[in-house]
Amino acid sequence: MWMSTFSRLALPALQRSSSATACQALRACRRPGQAASPLPSCPASMQLRGQQTLGSASLPLARHSVRNVRALDEKRMMEVEWEDGGHSLYPFTWLRDNCQCPLCTLGSAQARSLLMSDLDIHTGVDVVEVTNDNKVSVAWPDQHTSVFDAEWLKKRCFSVAARRALKEELFLNEQYYWDSKLRVPTADYQEVLRDDKAALDWLLALRRVGVVHLKGAPAEQGVVARLAERIGYLRLTFYGHTWQVQDKRMANNVAYTSGKLSPHTDYPALHFAPGVQLLHCISDAEEGGESEMVDGFHMAELLQREDPEAFGTLTSAHVDFTDMGIDYCEFMLQAKKCIIEVDADGRVVRINYNNATRDSVLDLPVHQVQPFYRALRAFVDIINRGENMVTYKMIPGDVLTFDNWRLLHGRRSYRSRPDGSRHLEGAYLDWDEVMSRLRILRSSVHGNI
Ligand SMILES: [Zn+2]
Repeated sequence: MWMSTFSRLALPALQRSSSATACQALRACRRPGQAASPLPSCPASMQLRGQQTLGSASLPLARHSVRNVRALDEKRMMEVEWEDGGHSLYPFTWLRDNCQCPLCTLGSAQARSLLMSDLDIHTGVDVVEVTNDNKVSVAWPDQHTSVFDAEWLKKRCFSVAARRALKEELFLNEQYYWDSKLRVPTADYQEVLRDDKAALDWLLALRRVGVVHLKGAPAEQGVVARLAERIGYLRLTFYGHTWQVQDKRMANNVAYTSGKLSPHTDYPALHFAPGVQLLHCISDAEEGGESEMVDGFHMAELLQREDPEAFGTLTSAHVDFTDMGIDYCEFMLQAKKCIIEVDADGRVVRINYNNATRDSVLDLPVHQVQPFYRALRAFVDIINRGENMVTYKMIPGDVLTFDNWRLLHGRRSYRSRPDGSRHLEGAYLDWDEVMSRLRILRSSVHGNI
């Protein structure tokens, strides 16, 4: 089960941070299918042994050495025998395609310069051998020679286990599901800005848990932009580079009122919704305005278990979302989305749901309309269960950072102070930029792995 490795590794890792706040990251979570149980508290003396068990659990810890290499001409593959006794197979075509020499690879860009039209996809080999410095050399019939580093080859082994490990290293898709007992992972805003290890812990928890609460930011505009700069760049949308969540007259979005917002994801009216959201509290409400959060992937899993028919409907029916108005500029958006989006393996990869922007246009055969409403209501009823929802009140200086593809977030209605309205500043980023920074930080904190 894909969750199990993470559940063994992540909890100690999340609790093992050097910062006292992150130390209390999770109190009680559970993985899918398991009863919630409290975790042991984090001893103050616990020393970090490197975050790598969280971020790079699957990475090789020791250098790999080649014992022997041979060409299997009939299969047109090269077989590498490793010192630890394992074997790996590499097709000749793939080896020739990935020659690392300066003629075939532009070193300054780490990009292939060999053209597909110049690749002999039926190539054989003349000689394969292990070099004195434990690399693998392949001499090709056209007089070209390729030399491959052992570690480079080992990482790219085609076995199921190796491909799974490399995929996890690159994408960190193992996630930790939670419910109302989650104690939201926290980190210090200033520390995240100045310390790479703190920034790495932040992004790892954001990826694994889906939400991290940063504390201690100044209560002024510009904080979310600085955080976005720390990562890369923010995502411009029709609501601007950053946006101000306040009670506005003639609001162009229900968020810009003082009313309750039921749990939703942002921007399903975009075909590519923003992956990550930053929300910074500049001034809070006099009364109400508590934030609500739900783990949408966990809710989808509960729906699949409790009501497979509803899950089937929400993963197959394409629903229209719309958004129109004027802000950064005039906009008139229309998109079709499955409310629960799954990948080719059936894994939930995105929740697309905002009841405010779900269109009255419903492009379904008429007999599927009532089953659609039944399915959506079943999902929303699970989302709204108290046992699944985390509620808390942000105070000025808090920044909520969360996975907008995974979490549903909402807010209770509020009343502003007489001397000033509740004010949050928000910004979006995409997961590509966040994961890019995460990989760079992991490499700089733990070495080039
Ligand atoms: Zn070459």
